[in-house]
Amino acid sequence: MCSPQESSMNAVGVRMVTRSRSRGPATGQQGSREKPAPLRREEAAAEGRKSYSPVKRQRKAQRLNVAYEASEGEKGEGAEHLQSPAWEPQDWRQQLENIRAMRSGKDAPVDQLGAEHCYDLSAPPKVRRYQVLLSLMLSSQTKDQVTAGAMQRLRAQGLTVDSILQMDDSTLGTLIYPVGFWRNKVKYIKQTSAILQQRYDGDIPASLAELVALPGVGPKMAHLAMAVAWGTVSGIAVDTHVHRIVNRLRWTKKATKSPEETRRALEEWLPRELWSEINGLLVGFGQQTCLPLRPRCQACLNQALCPAAHGL
Ligand code: SF4
Repeated sequence: MCSPQESSMNAVGVRMVTRSRSRGPATGQQGSREKPAPLRREEAAAEGRKSYSPVKRQRKAQRLNVAYEASEGEKGEGAEHLQSPAWEPQDWRQQLENIRAMRSGKDAPVDQLGAEHCYDLSAPPKVRRYQVLLSLMLSSQTKDQVTAGAMQRLRAQGLTVDSILQMDDSTLGTLIYPVGFWRNKVKYIKQTSAILQQRYDGDIPASLAELVALPGVGPKMAHLAMAVAWGTVSGIAVDTHVHRIVNRLRWTKKATKSPEETRRALEEWLPRELWSEINGLLVGFGQQTCLPLRPRCQACLNQALCPAAHGL
């Protein structure tokens, strides 16, 4: 099983930092190092200063560390205080409050077994960040319980970049089976681990652009890795749960066809201070109530406010 976590990604201790507003590459930044805290909280933020990108900007520490590209009009100004979006969905605040209420028990699989909760708390920060990335790579198309089991088996072997590179492919495949697409993941994990050893001294890169350039690492994984491993909110992590629920609630101007499209549409209007919360909140909601098939609309506090409730 994964290590018990004191908090989910939603509670990552982070600061609001003006950097890149777009879905495009974000970079690491400088910041305080005075708090030697766990990776998932202050430590992630402090460790997040190290960057392999040349671009570094610093803003005063606040609660969230959000990376985005400032528009021309925002540059040099208090870009964290942005104007309201031109469009926002009707009733979204009440719908969000209702989901928070339904999720208040924090008893969904993602709350205990999510990929971002599966690293070894006693390992050095660099190793923990690698384990975060690896658990995210394993998690795609895979239930949290299966990812957690694979991570447990890998950690029992001593899960580091070196141990993975020294392991033969069939052993690695045996350890991670039955995660989805496990054969491809063996290949991607080996390739990514070799790159991390060669270019990053065994650590993971601290920018979104470098993360998504790694084999087998997609945008959702990269955004979660930035948040969990580095304490930086670089964008909204959208998986199939988030994609489905956002469309059911009509949280985009028009229906979206892919998680990436959903992410872009959400980031156009959702206040940035909510970006880090939305993934864990909606994933758990999708696991427990707004199921892919036969959602439990009768038990959902949003039933009266949900455009999809009567069509499912
Ligand atoms: S009413 Fe049904 S479809 Fe709408 S959010 Fe709730 S569970 Fe999902």
